Amino acid sequence: MQNFPLRVNKIIDHAAKYHPKREIISRDFKGEINHSNWKEIHQNAKKISKSFQKLGIKKGDVIGVMAWNNRRHMELVYSIPGCGAINHTLNPRLFVGQLIYIINHANDKILVIDLDLIPIIEKIIEKCPSVQNVIIMVDEKNMPETSLKNVICYDELLNENDGDFEWVSGSETDACGICYTSGTTGNPKGVVYTHRSNCLHALISGSPDMLSLSSTEKIMPVVPLFHANGWSIGYTAPMMGSSMVLPGNDLSPAALYELLEKGTTITAAVPTVWLLLLNFLEEKKLSFSSLKRVVIGGSACPRAVIEKFQEKYGVDVLHAWGMTEMSPLGTVCSFKPEILKLNKTEKLNIQETTGHPPFTVDLKITNDNGEDLPWDGKSQGKLWSRGGSVVKNYLKNNENLIDNDNWFDTGDVATIDENGYLKITDRSKDVIKSGGEWISSIIIENAAVGHPDVAEAAAIGVFHPKWDERPILVIVAKPNKNPDKESILLEISKHVAKWQVPDDIIFLDEIPHTATGKISKIALRDKLNNDNYKHPEIK
Ligand code: AMP
Repeated sequence: MQNFPLRVNKIIDHAAKYHPKREIISRDFKGEINHSNWKEIHQNAKKISKSFQKLGIKKGDVIGVMAWNNRRHMELVYSIPGCGAINHTLNPRLFVGQLIYIINHANDKILVIDLDLIPIIEKIIEKCPSVQNVIIMVDEKNMPETSLKNVICYDELLNENDGDFEWVSGSETDACGICYTSGTTGNPKGVVYTHRSNCLHALISGSPDMLSLSSTEKIMPVVPLFHANGWSIGYTAPMMGSSMVLPGNDLSPAALYELLEKGTTITAAVPTVWLLLLNFLEEKKLSFSSLKRVVIGGSACPRAVIEKFQEKYGVDVLHAWGMTEMSPLGTVCSFKPEILKLNKTEKLNIQETTGHPPFTVDLKITNDNGEDLPWDGKSQGKLWSRGGSVVKNYLKNNENLIDNDNWFDTGDVATIDENGYLKITDRSKDVIKSGGEWISSIIIENAAVGHPDVAEAAAIGVFHPKWDERPILVIVAKPNKNPDKESILLEISKHVAKWQVPDDIIFLDEIPHTATGKISKIALRDKLNNDNYKHPEIK
């Protein structure tokens, strides 16, 4: 057979040749909706690639991109690796200090940024000596005044050449992208994706038991392209010839709903986005006309959200688990024949799991001694993974993340049932250990969100003199609702053993979130410590 190096630029070549007219709908910085297609994205990517070369970018150089999901960003997904460079996605929600750290650590030569993010870069550019140019993703007419030096307008680069450009060739194991992940301690860590890992990952994530994409689908990634390799959708959609809808910087429920109604058939985001959207739909008495499936991952999806999407709006939920270190897909909850036979409630029980892995992802759970645990849906243990798009080590970091058999410790705690369905019960550092027994914070949180007046919930362990730790619950109520403690505890007691029911409930206006929209238990613990919160029995 022929040797066919898996390089991501072959994906966009394929989309432009065989699916040229598939529509790319994109919201721009003014809120206007623009239309493009894979042929145009391909042409523009070639033009920008050529311009990068003219700017002195060489194979292996790193280009930082701080941008929302929009047409120009999709062009960068291909123009950067197309000239042999590495696409470093930057999360604008990171603390400034962390942004400076990662730009320097990755040694970004050029930054390409969206118009509304200029103020962030203006603040930090003096501390980022490796950056030679800043490219603003805008047309010439709207190019703003800025204190940044060596600034270039994206569309000026686009219009300065003809796109007659051969992608730079290389090995399939060349670096293609970098995404930093924030650990609990220390600086963020860089995960480097190769052309091969991204191609393999796109192939598996588009397959029928995963996202099941095809040329008849129109996918809207609400999840930003800078979060966990953009859940790979920037590669999977053109590989499968799907249309794309890109929401830009307006992630308000009204704006998302408007775009979902542009023929979107499948969409993807973290649960918080969907909680807000479902409230909006309910309030405005709206429904979906084209949406068929919603991918929910990044943190555990509450049962109430799954139920609402499916029962009330006729949209199937695909609950997924993954992590930046896994490119990111680990498992998706699609139905195997054993599950299809079950009744509605039993199926919902299964959908609270995150499903099963595709080919190339291998999983196991172990006890504290490293011994394999049975797949009985009950035994909870450390979750390990290995595969063709799973990390080996972090960028410029000597620590080997895998053992002799390639197993990578995910830091998650999970069960696996007899059909191979994975359920994440906790992050190892978030697990609540009461009297030596583990209590799943995720089960408590999901049960609490099942209460009609609860918007968001976070369970954490606090010190207790007898039990070492006991669970307490932090709640944010839905707007204009005032749920009482007893009714929330009653709801939780329907789902967990009596000793696992939280001992106290604290009501807050807001729960702190991480830069990727997940509840930040670290920030929450800090807040409770600062407020000098103590378990009710030791007050
Ligand atoms: P990140 O790399 O930022 O995407 O974070 C990865 C982590 O998010 C995982 O290790 C899990 O702890 C958590 N996570 C992702 N998806 C899920 C899910 N469906 N249920 C529970 N936790 C999840």
